[in-house]
Amino acid sequence: MFTAPLVRSGAAISLAVTILLTTPVAAADEVNVYSYRQPFLIKPMFDLFTKETGIEVNTVFAKKGLVERLESEGANSPADLIFTVDVGNLSSAVEAGVTQSVSSDTLAANIPAEFRDQDGHWFGLTNRARIIVTSKERVPEGEITSYEDLAKPMYEGRICTRSGKHVYMNALFASMIAHHGEEDARAWLTGLKDNLARAPQGNDRAQVKAISEGECDIAIINSYYMGAMQTNEEQFEWAASVNIVFPNQSDRGTHMNIAGMSLTAASPNKENAVKLMEFLSSDLAQAMYAEQNHEYPVNQSVQPSALVRSWGEFDHDPLPLSELVEHRVTASKMVDEVGYDG
Ligand code: FE
Repeated sequence: MFTAPLVRSGAAISLAVTILLTTPVAAADEVNVYSYRQPFLIKPMFDLFTKETGIEVNTVFAKKGLVERLESEGANSPADLIFTVDVGNLSSAVEAGVTQSVSSDTLAANIPAEFRDQDGHWFGLTNRARIIVTSKERVPEGEITSYEDLAKPMYEGRICTRSGKHVYMNALFASMIAHHGEEDARAWLTGLKDNLARAPQGNDRAQVKAISEGECDIAIINSYYMGAMQTNEEQFEWAASVNIVFPNQSDRGTHMNIAGMSLTAASPNKENAVKLMEFLSSDLAQAMYAEQNHEYPVNQSVQPSALVRSWGEFDHDPLPLSELVEHRVTASKMVDEVGYDG
């Protein structure tokens, strides 16, 4: 009864010995990741990847300094992949010269063109919508339908946002420049600035808290923070005080950003790294990934989580993020020019 398996494992052992004798040690089945994203967001997918492929994923997590680390390690860097949020951060890594291009039919099929670099230097893994939230008590439902509405004089002293220099705001402002041109975008930003209830401060969730406390009526935040607050006992009330608006449904669609990945310039395990990238864009990994942080799967054949679906469907702005990146510096200058941060 045990004969067949024994024979088979015997064959496997001799095969393993052969490989050991003929393959250099450096070809260990591993891939090394530098990540700004927190472990709980990506570890479950890495574990599944290891289970399916036998390739170990070693991860260094840090809040900052990983691009600088890649720069100083240069050609000797052990890292294969870098994970971060926001196209602004991804393009900063490209500008620093620490990434390389990947050409993969699987990635091209799984990730829509607007959510990956046209030169293959970065790929989106999850999507977040930059939504508007409005006070249930003080803003009639349906009154605000677009980012452009936020510059209307009727909202003077009623809007809260984080710093205009933050990457999330910078990308939104860059998209306004891409769609309207510099002059109109500046007029809009001036109008928005004039409508602020207070000098920009705090993170996205702090703006929703301010609405719940009556300090302002309207805020701009990333969509997944609604999920984070809705599932947090202490913050549930903040989220319950606002309606979600997916802006610009009658024209270009809602501004989106990504969390994504790049292959490093010096990647020593390139083949394994591309395998991991492709795995993370697959239906299975995408479904897991989207559950972790209330984000939208970048792979359009995968559904968002039930909680995220409960917010409703919407159309997103198809402007390629790589086009938006070109306006980052102008957007940042504009923030200074109009004195957005006070
Ligand atoms: Fe965030």
